[in-house]
Amino acid sequence: MKAIQIRNIRDIQVVDVPEPVLRENCAEIDVRAMGICGSDVHAYAGKSPNVTYPVVIGHEIGGVVTKIAENSENVNHIKVGDHVVLNPYLYCGECYPCSQGRTNCCTSLKCLGCQTDGAMTERFVHPANLMIKVPEGLDWETCAVIEPAVIALHAIHTLELKAGEHIVINGAGCIGMLIAIIAIAKGGIPIMVDVVDDRLELSKTFGVKYTVNSMTQDAVSLIREITGGRMAECVSEVSGNTVGIRNTLDFVASTGRIALTGWPNKEVTLPTAMITRKELTIRGSRTGVSSEFAEVMDMVSRGQINIRQIISKTVRFDEIPQAVQELCEHPERDLKVIGLNL
Ligand SMILES: [Zn+2]
Ligand SMILES: [Zn+2]
Repeated sequence: MKAIQIRNIRDIQVVDVPEPVLRENCAEIDVRAMGICGSDVHAYAGKSPNVTYPVVIGHEIGGVVTKIAENSENVNHIKVGDHVVLNPYLYCGECYPCSQGRTNCCTSLKCLGCQTDGAMTERFVHPANLMIKVPEGLDWETCAVIEPAVIALHAIHTLELKAGEHIVINGAGCIGMLIAIIAIAKGGIPIMVDVVDDRLELSKTFGVKYTVNSMTQDAVSLIREITGGRMAECVSEVSGNTVGIRNTLDFVASTGRIALTGWPNKEVTLPTAMITRKELTIRGSRTGVSSEFAEVMDMVSRGQINIRQIISKTVRFDEIPQAVQELCEHPERDLKVIGLNL
């Protein structure tokens, strides 16, 4: 069968791989929807420290269940023919974070397409307990965006955002846009901060009222004005940019909360006296847990959030390698590209 493989840095191709083998407690899917993630593009560019080549990419996945391993546990929530999305984070279930239910922080976490081969293939075998059933009638495009929306929801949970609170979102990429969409659904007031005007304009089409270009505008005084002088109760950092991370301390209200989702590629220096003076809560926020997949699915099926609207382009399976190359060379062109194999 066919798979999308990064064979080496800047070498991505459609290759032939063996059919997957059905294992205990697993199910097989026909893969239908595949989101291309920034991390896939990073792996292609050779900027991902966790990847060893060659690797089949793909962790934002929806498909149809075709086989379920017999005499298995945790398989009763799905049946052959069901549409599912994958929770792509394989955890051990035994380490300290796993014992606390924080499986996203498992000390031996393996993500599909990173530490182990991913699911941009025709068929894929995955633990059944990491398959989340898709409600009847939900389109494949939306299925490809469930996983990034889980990362966004996890950031909002980490921040404990309440209705009526402001949330500065540092970085108008995919995850930033999804955080804005979910924040609005929860009654929050997003303030989108970026240095690219086109992206800020785009965020307005998703319902964001306040945008700030931190390169050309005085972000601190604008945020002070928007928040009636208090600054933002919540700040979500998704850019991973050194300056962006430093800025969160200026954008947040005294006693406010900051969630760090973006990954900086080097150590960042911060004036910790500000953290003490403002008595800030600063928390890391990475990926998400299975219950958050269910929650996103529920919000989507109730019509509380439209996450499909962040998709800027859809390509066929065979066109995915070229789409990854284009995203690497022109990151500004597309917000979200997904592959469909229908
Ligand atoms: Zn991703
Ligand atoms: Zn673990």
